[in-house]
Amino acid sequence: MGEDFYDILGVSREATTPEIKQAYRKKAAQYHPDVSSDPKAEDKFKNIKKAKDVLTDPSLRKTYDQVGHSQFEQAQKQGGFSNTNFSGNPSDFFNNINFSTGFGNLFDMFSGGPSSAAPMRGKTLTLSLEIDLEDAYSGVAKTIHFNRPESCSKCSGTGHPPDAKTTNCPTCNGSGTITRTSSTLFGQIQQVITCSSCQGERVSYSKTCNSCSGSGVSMNKVEFPFQIPPGVPDSTTFLFQEEGAALKNGINGDLKVTVSIKKHHHFKREGSHIYYSCEIPFQDAVFGTKIKVPTLGGISDLTIPPGTQNGDTFRLSGCGMPQQGRKKSHGDQINKIRIPTPHPSNLSSEQKKTLKSFGKSIGEETKSGIFNKLKEL
Ligand SMILES: [Zn+2]
Ligand SMILES: [Zn+2]
Repeated sequence: MGEDFYDILGVSREATTPEIKQAYRKKAAQYHPDVSSDPKAEDKFKNIKKAKDVLTDPSLRKTYDQVGHSQFEQAQKQGGFSNTNFSGNPSDFFNNINFSTGFGNLFDMFSGGPSSAAPMRGKTLTLSLEIDLEDAYSGVAKTIHFNRPESCSKCSGTGHPPDAKTTNCPTCNGSGTITRTSSTLFGQIQQVITCSSCQGERVSYSKTCNSCSGSGVSMNKVEFPFQIPPGVPDSTTFLFQEEGAALKNGINGDLKVTVSIKKHHHFKREGSHIYYSCEIPFQDAVFGTKIKVPTLGGISDLTIPPGTQNGDTFRLSGCGMPQQGRKKSHGDQINKIRIPTPHPSNLSSEQKKTLKSFGKSIGEETKSGIFNKLKEL
C-alpha cells in the first residue's frame, strides 16, 4: 500500500476541493467497471471513490492529514481507534480523542448511513395516571390524552418543502460537524460535535416548511390506549419505546406512564394482600356467627368463631389481589374484627337493665379475679 489518497487521485496535498472533485471525475470515468477492461478496475474504482469521499470532507481530510494514510486505514478496519493506542504522549492523546469522536462520520459515510454514529433521540415523555383499586384488581383498558411532538405531516419531518434548494451549511462548511478545541493537562483536546445549525445534515435549505418552521416536528393531540394488567402494583411505570417526542433527523424518544392506585375507602392493599376492617356486635363475638364481607371479587362468607376478641384477624384465602405473572393466583383478604362498645344513649332502659345485671354477674368474677391477683403480689 504505497499509494495514499492523494496519489490515488493524482493530486497534490494542497489541492482544493474542486480540484479533487475534478480529478475524481476523470479517474472515475477511466476506471468505472462498466467501461474499463482493466481486471482490477472495480477495486481501483472503489479506492478512487473512497479517496474522493475522504478528501472532499473537510473534517475527514484534516484527520487524514494528521494521522497519515496507514493509521487512517487501520482505524477504519478496526472500527475506530482504541485507547490502547494511548502511549501517554499528549499528541497521541490528542489524536485519539479527535479520532474516536469524529470517526462516526467516516464509517457511516462508507456504509452510506446517516452522518452521525448514534442517532439523536427525541425527548422522553413522562405521564402519570391514577386508577381505582377495583381496576387494578381486574385490569383495565385506559386511553390517555396528551400533546406530543410528532413528525410534521406537511414536510414528512424534513423541515423543508421537497423543492427547496440546498447549499453547503455555512456554519460547518458542509462538514456536518464542528471541531471544538479546549486546553487540558494533556495539551489541547479536539472534540468533534454535530453542527447545531444543520444538525449534521451538512446542507442548508432555501425554504423552510411553513407548518413547522423548519423544525420537522409539530405538536399533536394524541389518544394513547393501553392495557393495564390485573394486579398492577402501585406506582408502576410502563415504558413504551419510541412513543415519545419526535425529533428531526432522529428517532422518537420513549413514553413512560406511571400508574398509581387511588386510596380506597374500605380496602387497604399491601402487596397482593387486601386488609379489611369489619364490625361485629358484642354478642356475635361471644357466640360466634357467619357474616358476609365485601371483597374485590364480590361478597364472601366469613365465619366468626365463638369468643372472638376485638382486633382478631380472619383470612379469606385467595380473595386478595391477583399476583402478577402467576395465572389464577391471588393474595388473601385479611379481615380485622372490631367490636364496638354501644353508647348508653343508644340503649333502651330494658337493655341497660339487662346489661347492668349481666355486668354485675360477670363483675363479681372479674373483681375477685383482680383481688386475688393483687393478693398474690
Ligand atoms: Zn452545519
Ligand atoms: Zn414541516
